Amino acid sequence: MVDHSIRFNEMMKKLKTKGCRLTPQRLAVVKILAASEEHLSADKIYERVKPDFPSTSLATIYKTVTLLKKIGELMEIGFVDDSNRYDGMRPYPHPHLICMKCKTMLDPDIPTLSELPKELAQKTGYQIVNHRLDFFGICPQCQRKEQFRS
Ligand SMILES: [Zn+2]
Ligand SMILES: [Zn+2]
Repeated sequence: MVDHSIRFNEMMKKLKTKGCRLTPQRLAVVKILAASEEHLSADKIYERVKPDFPSTSLATIYKTVTLLKKIGELMEIGFVDDSNRYDGMRPYPHPHLICMKCKTMLDPDIPTLSELPKELAQKTGYQIVNHRLDFFGICPQCQRKEQFRS
């Protein structure tokens, strides 16, 4: 089990050194993102913050997300249909595995994939600063659901 408090403390430390002021609502967003294994969308973050802070607006979520991105503590995975997702646990480029049906998003733990940017840099002489590696498919749960239907 991953200890989410470690990541949360890292994010808090960075926010403090950058002199960012944190309202309880923003703090709640940071806490959710520090444990966001699911790669939440802004809407989903909003849904989770709202019960505790009914006065929170979607704008607050976006402001906090933008702030965390700016200080390098959050990774945004953008999509053309505007359903951007966020990874606060791994705020650096890494491969993703995405289910086309339920939109589940995973960080595949495959060493070969993590080695790719380094290999590419060596082969081409490029200084790789960013990369995007998405794998699309149907997750096991959705595959099972399909079997039930037919
Ligand atoms: Zn699925
Ligand atoms: Zn991720």
